[in-house]
Amino acid sequence: MNALVKKNAAAGLDLMRVPTPSYGINDVLIRVDRTGICGTDLHIYVWDDWARQTIPPPLVIGHEFVGEIVALGENVSDFKVGDVVSGEGHVVCGRCRNCMAGRRHYCADTKGVGVTRPGAFAEYISLPMTNIWHHAPGIDLDVASIFDPFGNAVHTALTFPVLGEDVLITGAGPIGVMAVAIAKHAGARHVVITDVNPYRLGLANQLGATLAVDVRHSSIQAAQEKLGLKEGFDVGLEMSGNPQALNDMIDNMCHGGKIAMLGIPSQSIAIDWSHLVLNMLTIKGVYGRKMYETWYQMTVLLESGLDISPVITHHFHYTEFEKAFEVMKAGGSGKIILDWKS
Ligand code: NAD
Ligand code: ZN
Repeated sequence: MNALVKKNAAAGLDLMRVPTPSYGINDVLIRVDRTGICGTDLHIYVWDDWARQTIPPPLVIGHEFVGEIVALGENVSDFKVGDVVSGEGHVVCGRCRNCMAGRRHYCADTKGVGVTRPGAFAEYISLPMTNIWHHAPGIDLDVASIFDPFGNAVHTALTFPVLGEDVLITGAGPIGVMAVAIAKHAGARHVVITDVNPYRLGLANQLGATLAVDVRHSSIQAAQEKLGLKEGFDVGLEMSGNPQALNDMIDNMCHGGKIAMLGIPSQSIAIDWSHLVLNMLTIKGVYGRKMYETWYQMTVLLESGLDISPVITHHFHYTEFEKAFEVMKAGGSGKIILDWKS
């Protein structure tokens, strides 16, 4: 089969022939239809410090996908050939205390699809049946292909109650932009989002932001004044990983405000701890998706009318992967899809 492979410990990817994956008695084999490109894939593509320390070449990369089941291991009974599915990208151990207690998203021995085990940028992928999510009939296949980052957005946006609350999101990357629509759909009053990229702030507006603030030219404080907020934001969703963004957020929360932090900073960040203590703020780290409560929530949010499709801005055939990664690097995109059929 054809696959995009990190063949050597160097920048770039190779489109090459590799064996179709084998599947065990508890696994399903999926014919990949479309894949989303994640920021993680860009880290692997450019071969930064994180990628050097994490990725074992040669490896098929990619983890956001939708496809159709083409074969099943003999223990698998809940799925059938032809089912349209995606896969949870974290493969957990199943045996640690958290896994045994049903808290699988807290497993400390997680393997990452397309990160530490073979990924989805390929014509076929094999995964344990416990990692497979069966899509609702008639789902938009573009949306289905990005359930992984959509799940990051849902997990973070619904970490704290947002009904009637004023929400601040820092970072209008694809996940921040989806979080705008989710928070609005879940009943937030105002959703203010920040970035330094006008294209992405425009996307956030399309997905329903009350205000999209370019922090190079304006401030969150000014947004508060415009909206008549006197005491700050109730809920913060940090989705940039940027040190200044986190500090801006902390400065603009109400007393007792709650921050869900998804952004992964590349270095440690200094914050004003006394401000955090005196204002009784909560900061909670968020990783991945709840298994599988977040997947359930995503399905129900879509069924109840949530539309995240405007976040998808580009399509490329997988053979044009280099062009796709260049577009992503330039920052003038939301979510980019690679097509694997034909
Ligand atoms: P992204 O890199 O596409 O988006 C981050 C955005 O933050 C960019 O648009 C950037 O312009 C913006 N930004 C930079 N400086 C800023 C500032 N000072 N103020 C406001 N915004 C600023 O990333 P993404 O794919 O949307 O993911 C969002 C974040 O979540 C990233 O940090 C990513 O690494 C992280 N992530 C975490 C998990 C997890 O499980 N915890 C999963 C996926 C992604
Ligand atoms: Zn475990």
